[in-house]
Amino acid sequence: MDVLISGASIAGPALAYWLGRAGHRPTIVEIAPRLRTGGSAVDFRGPLHLGILERMGVLDALRARQTGGTAMRFEDADGGRLMEMPSDFAGGDLELRRGDLAEVLCEAAAPWTEFIFGDSIASMTETATGVDVTFRSGLRRTFDLVIGADGVHSTVRRLTFGPEDRFVKHLGYYVAGWDMPNEWGAERQCRAFNEPGRLASMFCDGDTAGAFMAFRAPPLEYDRRDLEQQKRIVLDRFAGMGWLTPRLLDGLAETRDMYFDQICRVDVPEWARGRVTLIGDAASGLTIGGQGCGTALIEAYALAGELAAAGGDHRVAFAAYERRFKRFTAAAKRGNPGRFLAPRRGYGIRLRDWLHNRAWFLALTMRMAADRTDLDLPAYSFASASSVRSASDGTTRDDASSAS
Ligand SMILES: Cc1cc2nc3c(=O)[nH]c(=O)nc-3n(C[C@H](O)[C@H](O)[C@H](O)COP(=O)(O)OP(=O)(O)OC[C@H]3O[C@@H](n4cnc5c(N)ncnc54)[C@H](O)[C@@H]3O)c2cc1C
Repeated sequence: MDVLISGASIAGPALAYWLGRAGHRPTIVEIAPRLRTGGSAVDFRGPLHLGILERMGVLDALRARQTGGTAMRFEDADGGRLMEMPSDFAGGDLELRRGDLAEVLCEAAAPWTEFIFGDSIASMTETATGVDVTFRSGLRRTFDLVIGADGVHSTVRRLTFGPEDRFVKHLGYYVAGWDMPNEWGAERQCRAFNEPGRLASMFCDGDTAGAFMAFRAPPLEYDRRDLEQQKRIVLDRFAGMGWLTPRLLDGLAETRDMYFDQICRVDVPEWARGRVTLIGDAASGLTIGGQGCGTALIEAYALAGELAAAGGDHRVAFAAYERRFKRFTAAAKRGNPGRFLAPRRGYGIRLRDWLHNRAWFLALTMRMAADRTDLDLPAYSFASASSVRSASDGTTRDDASSAS
């Protein structure tokens, strides 16, 4: 089948990889002009996440790029230690930059995948035999299936199911991140500072320091494509904050690439309609703290696996994928990381620090972070690349065992 996937980040290329292994022809359309490298660190934890990376054959390539977790030290305004989260709290078992992960996944999918950068789906019409797609560039093509892997603000979801506010719940916080020169010279150091409702933090690694901020706010009106407007929001919100914040804001003024978004939860009652379905954050996302990368990889494997198990019948496959995995993904998206990062009142900050300075409480937090990855993942059979190739010249060799 010709399958159009919207989004070349984590879920999109992972799905393209598995669809390609099963003999389909994936096309990925990505709105950004090119793959974004670098970015914030994301992590994988537990045998389920690492197992899926191993099945994809990318674990070694990712290990070669891992950043390794770093303890997060919360400080007072003078740099004194208040509390420290251990390195595996944020770093899990494998931590790397999101852009590096996307790059490795795209490389894995590349042998089977057509990539279209700098474009986006403008409209879709389902017919009896496929989906007629018009792109913003004017390009028109027909696909057997369309998959939305375009994140919490998914265009495929909007075109298929309706406006974003029906599915995306604002959780009362915004986050912002940008890179700047590491003027502190520190190596692998993560420091954070709170004032009520605000977090400023920075992570030094080599020549680069990554700033990461969180703040409480109701839903804000702004243009998602207007970087300068978003910078102004952050500058206003952090004006007057102590610690290293003024230096981090100086770095913001210089940057041309800032990540800015609300902390929100995505909840779509049904993931599929006809020949269209959703995957990753587009289907069930929490901006941060929801194990989104590991979950996206599991969903990608499962969606391609269910399609293979259903002999390509998308109605059966989409229903099975949703039935089997919805509860698992919902469980991973509980909670609101904003409340941990930037408690709204001073006593909330002090209580968080006091609790996390207790070994028993820290152990409980760590256990909860790990437990969310439990799932009995089916061992689907995919045709391997070699069997797909040999099938086309009439000498089929079922190599499914190596894939599962
Ligand atoms: C600061 C931060 C830290 C995080 N830390 C972790 C972590 O430690 N562990 C973890 O597991 N997760 C973490 N996450 C969450 C994780 O990044 C997401 O859950 C994950 O990236 C979801 O992948 P996705 O492919 O579904 O969506 P996204 O990564 O959001 O990708 C969507 C893609 O679609 C593209 N796109 C958007 N609109 C269109 C369109 N109209 N047409 C075509 N393409 C489009 C986007 O450009 C993007 O490339 C973190 C997130 C943030 C912001």
